[in-house]
Amino acid sequence: MNILIVYAHPEPRSLNGALRDRMVATLTAAGHEVLVSDLYAQRWKAALDGADFPAEPEGARLRLIDASHRAFAEGTQTPDVVEEQRRLLWADAVILQFPLWWFSMPAILKGWVERVFAHGFAYGVGEHSDRRWGDRYGEGVFAGKRAMLVLTAGGWADHYAERGINGPIDDLLFPIQHGILFYPGFSVLDPFVVYRAERVDEARFQTIAADLDRRLAGLFTERPIAYRPQNHGDYEIPSMRLKDGLGGTGQQGLRLHRA
Ligand code: FAD
Repeated sequence: MNILIVYAHPEPRSLNGALRDRMVATLTAAGHEVLVSDLYAQRWKAALDGADFPAEPEGARLRLIDASHRAFAEGTQTPDVVEEQRRLLWADAVILQFPLWWFSMPAILKGWVERVFAHGFAYGVGEHSDRRWGDRYGEGVFAGKRAMLVLTAGGWADHYAERGINGPIDDLLFPIQHGILFYPGFSVLDPFVVYRAERVDEARFQTIAADLDRRLAGLFTERPIAYRPQNHGDYEIPSMRLKDGLGGTGQQGLRLHRA
């Protein structure tokens, strides 16, 4: 199978760099084709701005969604964006790998999403009407593909547990896993999180790497997170509110969107 790793760490000799090398070695040994988009090494342009739309008339007010739509539809996107889109279409599974920075992904990776997930490609797809809000949340360009986050965090696992001070990790990752990955159709696997990443020594690294190998072995067989698809009847139309009675009694918050 084809696997794309989108890797966002500035230092190749980091813990993230070592985990990336491990993933490439493990996946390649298992017979997969692996591509790495190494965003810092590629000097990825993180900010979405007018330079992304060279075909827009000079001096015209920049309307980002319209400009993105035109550039994608008319083939005037910048070559770096086109290449990342090609890699995404090539991949059967995509791994986003990053250190948790300020409870989210590093800006360079967010900028990769903002620039590569164009209108007409990853959003604004399908019928948009009173009856339907497009092909999203379980449908879309990446339907049938799998995605997984591999991340490291300085905090302890307890800090990210149900009552932990940082908030539950599933809630913190919801905008990425549900909003960025499930939205354009990916089936999203549970994340692989290394907590207390500053305290990794050689012995612990070997344990982490072995755990990661096990997760990678299940990349195409593990059950994805059961996020509720938008167009399968769980949501009222057009409010897109989860129907009363679904989600169980006492359930609240983001967990409602898991079946
Ligand atoms: P490194 O610093 O490269 O390494 C970490 C440890 O692993 C070191 O002890 C190193 O010796 C060891 N190591 C590296 N490679 C190997 C190897 N091959 N074998 C054995 N040991 C190895 N944390 C949070 O929890 N929440 C946050 O919101 C958050 N925000 C942050 C914001 C910023 C701007 C920064 C800089 C850090 C933040 N952190 C946060 C901490 C951050 O998540 C960790 O610093 C990061 O995950 C560590 O990953 P690294 O690859 O940079 O590790």
